[in-house]
Amino acid sequence: MTETTSAKRIPGLEGLCAAILPPESGGPPSEELAWRVAEIVNRYPPITREGFRALAALVSAAAFASNKGSLAKASPEDRERAIERIASIARLTPMTDAVKALLLLVHGSDSASAELLERSNANPEARPDPILDVTPGTEWPSQTHADVVIVGSGAGGAIVARTLAGAGMDVVIVEEGRRFGVEEFRTRDPIDRFTDLYRDAGATIAIGSPNVVLPIGRGVGGTTLVNSGTCIRPPVAVQEKWRDLAGLEFCDPEIFGKLCDDVEATLEVEPAPLDVLGKNGKTVLAGAKALGWEAHPIARNAPGCAGSCQCAVGCPQNAKAGVHLSVLPVACKDGARIVTDARVERVIEELGIVKGVTVRRADGSRFEISTDRVVIAAGATETPMLLYRSGMAIHRQVGRNLALHPACAVAGLFDEKITAWHGVLQSVVVEEFHKRERILIEATATPPGMGSMALPGFGPRLMGHLERADQVAMLGAMVGDEPSGRVVRGPRPFINYNLSRGDGERLVRAIGHMGRILFAAGAREVYTGIPGADTVKTPEALDEAVGSANPHRLHLAAFHPTGTAGAGSDSERYPVDAQGRLRGYSGAWVADASILPTCPEVNPQISIMALAVGVALGIAPGRVSS
Ligand SMILES: Cc1cc2nc3c(=O)[nH]c(=O)nc-3n(C[C@H](O)[C@H](O)[C@H](O)COP(=O)(O)OP(=O)(O)OC[C@H]3O[C@@H](n4cnc5c(N)ncnc54)[C@H](O)[C@@H]3O)c2cc1C
Repeated sequence: MTETTSAKRIPGLEGLCAAILPPESGGPPSEELAWRVAEIVNRYPPITREGFRALAALVSAAAFASNKGSLAKASPEDRERAIERIASIARLTPMTDAVKALLLLVHGSDSASAELLERSNANPEARPDPILDVTPGTEWPSQTHADVVIVGSGAGGAIVARTLAGAGMDVVIVEEGRRFGVEEFRTRDPIDRFTDLYRDAGATIAIGSPNVVLPIGRGVGGTTLVNSGTCIRPPVAVQEKWRDLAGLEFCDPEIFGKLCDDVEATLEVEPAPLDVLGKNGKTVLAGAKALGWEAHPIARNAPGCAGSCQCAVGCPQNAKAGVHLSVLPVACKDGARIVTDARVERVIEELGIVKGVTVRRADGSRFEISTDRVVIAAGATETPMLLYRSGMAIHRQVGRNLALHPACAVAGLFDEKITAWHGVLQSVVVEEFHKRERILIEATATPPGMGSMALPGFGPRLMGHLERADQVAMLGAMVGDEPSGRVVRGPRPFINYNLSRGDGERLVRAIGHMGRILFAAGAREVYTGIPGADTVKTPEALDEAVGSANPHRLHLAAFHPTGTAGAGSDSERYPVDAQGRLRGYSGAWVADASILPTCPEVNPQISIMALAVGVALGIAPGRVSS
């Protein structure tokens, strides 16, 4: 049996499919779903794949024991009882939830695929794919030279490339992922786009208490390919903290404001127009307004967005101006070149002086680019890994200081149709608790399947919720967090994060705030996501659920890792100096989410790009005019 076919069967998975999404209640044929899930799991890196298989086997064995027999052969009622019972055992809850999340993702995406593709094609493209100077790694010569090599083409790397190429430098960007084009976003199934666009096929997890799902983009454009297009400057208090405590002079609000002006003009940022917002956003606006809470449509870099709600799997209209559409074309026009499908294995240095990079092509062969300037912009989880591999993580804080801006979601059931996925994915921001509690609430409607974890229960109960999915409005909240995590030194990335007590308490409070908004907007029920109190029908019941919630049992995701090579003037505390130079080396800079000294307390792309421009301006002084 080949590895591919053996991976197509996960022992016990069929029974779990039948228990979680029973065919008798309208769920998909269990054998088909189990096969499809196994196919998706087969795309994971080996360690994650084996981890999921083991986890599914364990949940299945527990269900077998609880049912005293095979789930696949049990009656629908026995299956439901067994799965509910094991999900209520604290040690098994996260595992059962992980299986449920993947089943819902696969089933939801597949069943909504035709509708989403039809909607994608009903809306014209806002712009064609731009001209970029892209060469696949397999066609790149084995020995070349550049004035500057940039590792990673995401938010940070792209804007550095634009700034330095604009100053006349010969810039080569090396990108591990491939280039994606709008045609495939208009024609391919969402789940296939999802597993292609994200690192580890979307299965990256920060391990800790609780585990946190941590999706990270990989491709030309980095995570901006899949981000929601929300553009928010960090609060002035954060800018001042970065200036005063970290010693970053360009974070002085006056200077930082100008850097943000530049970034926002490049990204074409404007508030999401009301006519494309969609009912999810409007419901949240109405709820916040009824409570007298400050809320407004989000400023986004998506001119021409028609509300396809697919930012997270590649915008089918090329409307969301990720850096692949907005920044890299300018860089390439000024001569920057991008090598794709090429992973920088090591930065080469001799006696602390940077000499170049060694890069691995997709076929396993290698090439070198010699240079005396390398800008590392591989993202907050991969930048420390590259420093470890290169033997350049000599500062003890490399990989530490990881903040995630953890998020939880709440949903509300309404009498009328919301059809949350018809409209802008992330549409409205509620500011009420931002300054005071560092809680940022955003109306966030994911494509079907991707946000279904908010739907409570298993079996017929879950199927009932899925049937009413178009009556559900969704919100997410993120809390500005302590640096409670780290990227652990080792051959493979291992991300560890343990939610601090205070952050956990604020996440729980955020659930209460979001529930209130939904009730104020007219929700009949609120899905809190709190194990044991997942559905509440009144604000009083909501308060009770919130009062008894254990933060370490929440379902958390995070989209904003930062801080793992923090920049600042204190040489003990920050591995990167206040100009973005890696301490201890000449010719190495860091310019991505890693350098943020603390959680920015907002969606971070504007912060990252503004800081990266600040770093770039220091790389070629005299050649760059700001
Ligand atoms: C689903 C989702 C939604 C989001 N929505 C928003 C939003 O609406 N607004 C917002 O402000 N932020 C949002 N974010 C976060 C934001 O997009 C990221 O914080 C930002 O893109 C990070 O920028 P970066 O430059 O640090 O890394 P990335 O943008 O992740 O770029 C890093 C690049 O480096 C490449 N790379 C890594 N290692 C190597 C290597 N060794 N060799 C070569 N290349 C390498 C990667 O493939 C990647 O392309 C979202 C994130 C996610 C996951």
